[in-house]
Formats: sequence, structure tokens, C-alpha cells
Amino acid sequence: MASAAPSAPTVPPTTSAASEEVRETAAWTVAVRVLCDLTARAGDLDLRFTPSPTATEGIEGHQRVAAGRGPGYETEIALEARVEGLRVRGRADGFDPVRGRLEEIKTHRGDLGRQPAHHRHLHQAQLECYGAMFCADRGLDRIRLALVYLDIGTGTETLIEEEREATELQAAFEARCQAFMAWARQEAAHRQARDAALAPLGFPHPSFREGQHALAAAVWRAASQGRPLLAQAPTGIGKTLATLYPLLKAAPGQQLAQVFFLTARTPGRQLALDALTTLRRSGAKPLRVLELTAREKACEHPDKACHGQSCPLAHGFYDRLGGARAAALAAGDMAAPALRALAREHQVCPYWLAQDLMRWADVVVGDYNHFFDVSAGLHALAQEAEGRCAVLVDEAHNLPDRARQMYSASLHEDRWRGLKHVATGPLRRPVLGLLRAWRDLLKEGKRQDEDGDEAQAGRGHAGMGREPGLVRQRDKDARLADQRPAQDYRVLDAPPDALLKALALCSAALADALEGDGATPSPHAAQLQEAWFEALALLRLSERFGSHSCYDLQIEGAGSRLHSVLTLRNLLPAPHLEPRWQAAHSAVLFSATLGPERFIRDQLGLPKDAAWVDLPSPFRAEQLQVRLVPQVSTRWTDRARSVAPIAILIARQWRERPGNYLAFFSSFDYLMQVAERLASEAPDIPQWQQSRRMDEGERRAFIDRFTPGGQGVGFAVLGGAFGEGIDLPGDRLVGAFIATLGLPQVNPVNEQLRQCLQQAFGQGFEDAYLVPGLRKVVQAAGRVIRTPEDRGVVYLIDDRFCRPDVRALLPPWWAPEVWRLPAAG
Ligand code: SF4
Repeated sequence: MASAAPSAPTVPPTTSAASEEVRETAAWTVAVRVLCDLTARAGDLDLRFTPSPTATEGIEGHQRVAAGRGPGYETEIALEARVEGLRVRGRADGFDPVRGRLEEIKTHRGDLGRQPAHHRHLHQAQLECYGAMFCADRGLDRIRLALVYLDIGTGTETLIEEEREATELQAAFEARCQAFMAWARQEAAHRQARDAALAPLGFPHPSFREGQHALAAAVWRAASQGRPLLAQAPTGIGKTLATLYPLLKAAPGQQLAQVFFLTARTPGRQLALDALTTLRRSGAKPLRVLELTAREKACEHPDKACHGQSCPLAHGFYDRLGGARAAALAAGDMAAPALRALAREHQVCPYWLAQDLMRWADVVVGDYNHFFDVSAGLHALAQEAEGRCAVLVDEAHNLPDRARQMYSASLHEDRWRGLKHVATGPLRRPVLGLLRAWRDLLKEGKRQDEDGDEAQAGRGHAGMGREPGLVRQRDKDARLADQRPAQDYRVLDAPPDALLKALALCSAALADALEGDGATPSPHAAQLQEAWFEALALLRLSERFGSHSCYDLQIEGAGSRLHSVLTLRNLLPAPHLEPRWQAAHSAVLFSATLGPERFIRDQLGLPKDAAWVDLPSPFRAEQLQVRLVPQVSTRWTDRARSVAPIAILIARQWRERPGNYLAFFSSFDYLMQVAERLASEAPDIPQWQQSRRMDEGERRAFIDRFTPGGQGVGFAVLGGAFGEGIDLPGDRLVGAFIATLGLPQVNPVNEQLRQCLQQAFGQGFEDAYLVPGLRKVVQAAGRVIRTPEDRGVVYLIDDRFCRPDVRALLPPWWAPEVWRLPAAG
């Protein structure tokens, strides 16, 4: 039940205070960067000269320039100006009082001569704005302005300098503000209309479902108090609407600029878009709703590159962007299909159009990575908006694992060895240098292993681990888990500095090589680019290395194709996520399987004042027969023995109550063994199986076989595409067999995770194995009962389901009974 939040409040109606706040938003505030973005960009989209310095390199570059300027040099000068109703804000990079020079510092790599003209125009426009604001602030008549380009690779500074009159700068600044003013007025009017529609918005259905109102009220409270909320709310209560509705209703009062709805999977995104369509139809008509998709999905020319000489939709992109933007915002519906059609009409790239629209949409529906990724665009917007964005995280139990992936990066030795054959000219030396550093790292590892072997003599050794005991080290609970053979793996004692240094040189050389490609890219451009992206990802994350992560080396492949992979592996995402929560006004994380509360708080680094609400299920124990089958062990070593009893159990249940069933296993091999056995035991029972790498159409076909009144067994892998996020109400699904605890495989990587979580929170096995495993089980079982009318059965097949610590992780409304396995024959 609810703990931190008071019970049964109502979602407040419209207030006059809200209307007053609506009026206050009429003055528009804009950052210098955005002002210039909208008024100074023209010509082609061109990503070839995208500056490649990392965030730290950028900061260090600014510091390097400042350090070279001598005493009295001012940095990060906050400036603000008002032109009619427009408030313009920004920070000038530096002022050199000795030379009387205001500077705009840009870091870059490679030949500045290849910089597209529109980049230079944009930088110049920004500098002129700061120049005008600075002169007004300090009462100056004239000033020297300098664009300072610092090449991170060579340390070379290029200055483009001029002296300007304050009156001239002010006139240009006011003209720019005037050019923006029509847009600002339109935006202010939109915000007013939007908030006027949202404040009195009624719930779009005649009544709330059971539990739905309680969740909506908790979200409202969290938004009103400006704090995060963790909401464990059962399936079937309509969580999407229960979170979107109160948050949007709270937007006017809290002066929220934007709401981000983030999902782990595509189906969740569609549910959000459907809910938003419902809300728009029932009063929130002005709401602008944007769907973000991945570049691969949105791209109209996958065989081309994002610059005007390659892609027709990049050519003249900025000249047509304004029209496309205005049309998209006027329409309001910016879901992917609508946006693609509109982009075609205006001949602009749909992906980059959506990226531009992010700033102007009221609700953005996207993937987790759009907000949580290292350089996520929505996070940057939230920071800019200074706490006026709110975040909804759907199926938030997926966030710890997804965040771990986002904050991890790998470098593949075979990829870089492959470059040896194509790296020519200035690229050759850095690539050879990297391969040398790599060899040294492997040699050092081998030497340490040998030392370790001697030290560990008599204790056995698995793989090439620095700490052999790590692989064998099992606490009492770990015996629960499914142990598989270890792979070659070692955790590095310290960051591989020499290799990272060599990688930075490679990255710079690759950036130069790729920039030099121009209109006639080398035949190896794709190969170079992949390597460059890999280098950038690792270098960026290396800047954030800490006790939450480790560097490890793994040996992959077989025979002559053996190669090593260096990974910066995040083990605990909390430190990376903390700034994300700080950037948001409020964040609501919801899921049917979010808990245990301690676990999710620890993993995600939520602030102490984050509220927790656990809503009871609207379903009753009589609706779902939960049968524990302790006579079978599904451990890897017992697997062969388990195949026949499971097939017999499925056949018996199906004959007792013919209908549609799902059967979940830990692997495709296991799944196939049982499916084949069932086919030979009961050839009359229709069955279909999940296979590796199913595309969207195949996944849809798998689900479509669960027709109302249908009969058969669908075989799937637990934790895969069919274990959560699918809705099969009524008799589309009458039961499930779950022949695994879903525990992650015991391997050195997971053991490293366990060790880290043990050190951090003292519950390593629970956090690394038990909780994630059982969560998958509960999610899969949750497919059976979707409405208060549904009835079904779930078999939990394994003796470990009877353990008290495992049963404690099952939903409290379940009433499991121990089931006797039918005798064979
Ligand atoms: S259509 Fe594809 S290639 Fe062209 S600009 Fe867009 S994303 Fe790049």
C-alpha cells in the first residue's frame, strides 16, 4: 500500500491561480544559442564537421585558452537582455580586459578550412549577440570580438577577430530579436492556449479503473511537490493514462514546459501515443505530441550520409526547416508516420526534423536513451529549462539494466586489427600505436595471471581472471543460480591509461580522415566511422570512470579467430543517473514489478525525498491458480532430466483445459528440447516457437496465433520479446508454464556485478541475480490475467520456487500451492 504519499486525494480541478500562471508565461525567455539557431542557420545539414572533442576535452580546451590569457581574464560571464517582451540569456565564454576582447571559444579537431559556412555563421551570430549584451552591461561604446577555435589535437588556436561599434552590435541584436519575436509570440500564445486547455482537463473516461485514481493522485502530488515518485502499480489499471493525465493537468500550475514519456520498448510508446490522442480529443487539443524514433528507423536514405553532397534531404535542409517546423507544430500530431509524411512534403530529413522539434513539443514520447544516454538530447533540454521538465518512465524495472548498457562501452580488438590494412597516411601511426598498447595490455595481463597462478597454486584457476577466486567464489545463496562454464575474463586493476592515450590519438586521426573524405568518401569510410564511434564512446565514458564501473578484458571467438574485447562496464548506474533526476522538476517511475523498494532506489540513485507507492492488485487470488512444481530442477546440470516431465505436464494441463498457453524457458536450446518432446508426446497439440532474431513481422505473427478461443502452446524464452509488454486478455491466454527462475547466468561478468553490489549495498546475490530473475518470472506470469474477468493458471517449475526468499518476491495477491507432478504414461 501507499507509504510516503497520503491516501485517496483527488486530482484538483482548475484553479484561478493556474490561470494567473498562464498569463505570466506570456513573456518569452530564450537562450542566445537558440535565438541564433533559429535566425542564423541556413543551407545544408552537414554532420561531417561535427566537433569531436569529448565534454571533458571541451572544458579543458576552454580552461587552456583562459589559462593562456593572463590575470584578470573573466570566464563564463552571465548576460541578460530584454527586447520588448523577449528575455535573452546566455554566458559569454571569456573577456580579456588587457586586450578589451570578448571571446567565443570553440573546440574542434582537424582542418578548420573544412568547417561548413553555416557553422561559422552560427558562431559569429552568437558572438555578436554576446558583444551587444556585454557592451550594454558594461556601458562600452566599442569592443573587440574574437572567435577562438582551439584544435584539441594540436593545441593550435585560430583567432578570427574584429573591432565593432556597440550601436552596430545592438542594432543587429535587436534585428535578430525582432526576427525571432513573431516566433516567440506564437510560442507564448501556444503555451497560453495549451495551459488554458490543460488546467480544466477532465479525465477522458466516465470513471477511473480500480487503482487508477490512486496512481493518478500520487502522480499529481509528486508533480505538485516537485519530487520523484516510484510507483509499483499492477497490470490492467491503465497506468499510461493514470500518469500522463495528472502530470499534464499539473503542468500549468507548475509551469512545466515539457513532459517526456520514456519507454523501454516500442509497444509502450504506442500506448502513450494512443493515450495522448485520447487526451487531445477530450479537451487537450492544443497539445503538441512528438514521437522520437531511432535514426535507422526514420532515415529515408540509409545508403547515404548526413550531408548535402550525399543526401538530398540534407541539401538545403536549414532553408526548408522553418516551413516544416511551423507546419508540424501547427498540426500538433507529430507521431512518426505523420512526421514522415510532413517531412516528405517539405523535402527535409524526418529524423533531423524530429530532433529540431524536440524543443518545441509539449510532450515527447521516446526511448529511455533519449533522456538517460550520455549525451541525450532531452536531458540537455531539461537542463536548459532549469527544472521545468517532467519525466515519466514506463516499465521502469528495465531502467537499471538499460542504464548499465548506456554507461558501458567496448573496444573490439578485431575491428582495430582490421584497420591496420586500411589505415594509410597520418592514420597509420596512431592505429599501430594503439595495437602496440593493446598488445602490452594483454602481455601485462598474462604476466599477472602467471603471478596469480603461482600465488593461487592449489586453489584452481578459471579463465584468465586476475582474481581467480572471483569465478569460484560462491556464497551460500549463489548455489541457487544456474552455473555455466566460465569464459576468459579479467578485471583490470586500474584504467588502461596507455591504451586510452593511444586511442585518443587514433580518434583524432580518424576524425581528420573522415572529415577529409568530402564528397568522395574512401571505400573504407564505413569501417573508419565504426571504429571512430567505438573510440569516442569509450573515451567519453572513460572521463566518468569511478567505483561504479570497471574495465575488463574478455577473450571471444574460437580457434584462430580469438580476439580480445576491452570493456568499460558500468555495474551501478546510480551515480550516472543522479544528475538526470536533478534536472527534472519531477520524475515518475512506474511498473507492475518495480520493487523491492530498496533495490530500485539503490540502483537508480533516486534522491531521498522520492516517494514510493505500492498499489494493490485489482485481481483476486481465485482468478489465478499458481502451482509450484518442486519435483523438477531446471538447473543446467539437471536440464536433460527435466525435459520429459515438463512436456508431460504441459500436455496434461492442455488436455484438462484446452486453450492458449505460453511456455517460458531459459534458452532457445531448452525451449526446443521441450517443444520437440511435446510434439512427440502429443502431436495433436498445436505449438509454435520463438526463434532467435525474429523481426517485427515474425513477432507479430507469433502473438497473432493467440486468437480468442484458440488452442495451442507458444514456446518463448523468459526475458525475451514475449515475456512482457504483450497484452492477451480473456481466453487469448489461459495459462503459462515457467520452467526457469530467470536468474542471470553465473559467469565472471555477473559475478563482478554481484561483487560490486555486495560492496555497495551488502546484498550482492539478491541484487545481481535473484531480484532480476524473479522479476522476469512475475512479468511473464502477468500475461495471463489482464482483466478482472480473466481466469488462468501458472506453473512455476523448479524446486527453488519453494524457497522462502524466492516466494517473498512473488506478488502478495498470489496464493501458490505445491503441485504434484503427474506420473508419466
Ligand atoms: S535521410 Fe538519412 S542520410 Fe539523409 S539526412 Fe536524414 S538521416 Fe541522414
